[in-house]
Amino acid sequence: MKLSQRVQQLSPSVTLAASAKAKKLKAEGNDVLNLTVGEPDFTTPKNIQEAAIAAISNGKASYYTPSAGIPELRQAVVDAVQRNYGLAYETKNVIITDGAKFSLYLLFQAMLDLGDEVLIPVPYWVSYGEQVKLAEGQPVFITCKQENDFKVTVDQLEEVKTEKTRAMILNSPSNPTGMIYTKEELLAIGNWAVANDILIIADDIYGQLVYNGNSFTPLATISEEIRKQTIIVNGVSKSYAMTGWRIGYTLAEEELIVGMNKIASHSTSNPTAVSQYAALEALQGEQDTVEEMRQAFEERLNTIFPKVAALPGFKLTKPQGAFYLFPNIKETLTLCGYEDATTWVDDLLEEAYVALVTGEGFGAPDYIRISYAADLATLEQAVERIAAFIEKKIQLNNN
Ligand code: PMP
Ligand code: GLU
Repeated sequence: MKLSQRVQQLSPSVTLAASAKAKKLKAEGNDVLNLTVGEPDFTTPKNIQEAAIAAISNGKASYYTPSAGIPELRQAVVDAVQRNYGLAYETKNVIITDGAKFSLYLLFQAMLDLGDEVLIPVPYWVSYGEQVKLAEGQPVFITCKQENDFKVTVDQLEEVKTEKTRAMILNSPSNPTGMIYTKEELLAIGNWAVANDILIIADDIYGQLVYNGNSFTPLATISEEIRKQTIIVNGVSKSYAMTGWRIGYTLAEEELIVGMNKIASHSTSNPTAVSQYAALEALQGEQDTVEEMRQAFEERLNTIFPKVAALPGFKLTKPQGAFYLFPNIKETLTLCGYEDATTWVDDLLEEAYVALVTGEGFGAPDYIRISYAADLATLEQAVERIAAFIEKKIQLNNN
């Protein structure tokens, strides 16, 4: 069958593909430690589950909702942004979507024309570039150095900017690096965007997952001018352990929200009703569980980081937020006799049953991504298996 050019040019999500492969091996009876996908291993907090059950029982969840989301949830987003960012938005500036991923999809569809450019710092989250291409836009990748904590600089932005640059993506804390931009860095980038009339898409999805005294400053809070230039994307997946519910949102100027909503109305109709009632409780209910889960991730990071950093050849910067480790393993590959990280990751899965994601999908082929959204015992066992795998490969390579 002939598939569209669009689909032929599209690569599947490496994170989801790696996760599916690990799950398949596990289902076949293998003892797989799955550190691929970025999703909290916790179950959704009880109060949220109960709100969803109530919405099913009382019938509220039985029907289509407005395509931009139920008014109560749009208001809850406004309230959360007031509470967490100290910024005043109105419900007309909010759209609820099927996960933050679909927010980004709608955003690019609503704002890009053929050849419009979007600046994407590398390493990037896997879907940004592909989504820009699906909207006929042109992703422009900017490689950021590990020595600079993987952050993009104004000089780099200035170098690649053209007449066609419409927007840039800023993901802080970052997936996959876990790094957070400082206020000073945000001010410089924000002012550059304002001066050049380039929109900044702030993917704030890991904003509540920050560790060891680091703090997250939302770009939109830097100045009023910068706020106007910023589109905020967020969701409940990561902070509330709700990946499966698929609820995200965007805050932007009304015109853009209306545009996104037109596309939503012809595609999904509305985000699943029951999930919206669950997300309403997530944003409005007690927030203690968010902090409890954050503390658990912090403990995992602090336990696992030194062990991973000490693996032969690994070059790892300590992440400040999110729940990923992103080591450069170029030296390890040489020691083990491998040409590329993708084959190394494949063999690690097949021979040691540890599932990770190759850096290839994040635009950084010398790296691997390890999700530490798993319990400590699994993490510790995984590191032991990785160490043994490396040792075995080094020995083989030396013989
Ligand atoms: N942005 C980033 C950086 C992510 O890691 C994810 C995780 N999938 C998303 C957006 C989308 O999250 P979701 O669609 O589950 O809300
Ligand atoms: N964001 C998560 C990850 O990077 C979920 C998978 C995805 O949506 O690609 O693993």
